[in-house]
Amino acid sequence: MNPKQAPEAIPKTTLRPYPQSRPRIGVFGGAFDPPHLGHFKLAQSAIIDLQLDSLIIVPTGQGLHKSRCMSPEHHRLKMTQLAFQDLPNARVDPCELDRGGVSYTIDTVLSLSTQLPGSDFYLIIGADQAEAFDTWHRWTDILQIVTLAVAARSSQIQPDTTLEHPKVELESYKWHNQALAQGIQKIKGHTDPRIAVSLHMPCMPVSATQIRSTIQQQGGEVSQWLNPLVLAYIRSHFLYTP
Ligand code: ATP
Repeated sequence: MNPKQAPEAIPKTTLRPYPQSRPRIGVFGGAFDPPHLGHFKLAQSAIIDLQLDSLIIVPTGQGLHKSRCMSPEHHRLKMTQLAFQDLPNARVDPCELDRGGVSYTIDTVLSLSTQLPGSDFYLIIGADQAEAFDTWHRWTDILQIVTLAVAARSSQIQPDTTLEHPKVELESYKWHNQALAQGIQKIKGHTDPRIAVSLHMPCMPVSATQIRSTIQQQGGEVSQWLNPLVLAYIRSHFLYTP
């Protein structure tokens, strides 16, 4: 270029925007047999606390951890869609059902990280799952891709909520399974505060097991724990009745 020549002005429209922070993607897997308000609250807390751009809700295929026979996949998928349809930024992804066979979370997070490169991934789980995380297939590989975001599941298993933190700057999860905590430290070489964070969710004393058995054994009241659309679906398809 001739040094005397003024540099050509770059049209504004071609200027790259200031680099934005990486998209934050949550992944929330579950049998959702049925999906209940504990699941909904967990999903909602994750979106707010982690400031997620998107939460991907994944109904699992047959999991290694579920010894019982689950309801047919099309029912679980439909109930999951009904349960989360009004949650902004959330979408239900049937990838594990489509893959068929035993569900492995590692396959799902690998596939999502290929589809959405350059994103930060959070795996949303309850404390019961966090404490048994070292039994998951290829759990150390999962931790290379995601940060765990853990919700309290019962009064016995509580994340360490002694400190108040602003959103996103969440406290590290306090592991109650010391062997797992040490295993994680060994893999990472040191305590990495971003391996797991606590979600600020009030304890919701509900499980799908309780709901199934209440319907099955006593024909009892479960409406307080279910989205009305899910309850209507259960009733119209006679799910969980003997
Ligand atoms: P089940 O009683 O059949 O084992 P569940 O109620 O635990 O079912 P899942 O679909 O297995 O439901 O759970 C999916 C995820 O949601 C898991 O990570 C689990 O820990 C979490 N979760 C379920 N219920 C709650 C709850 N009440 N509070 C916090 N986390 C929950």
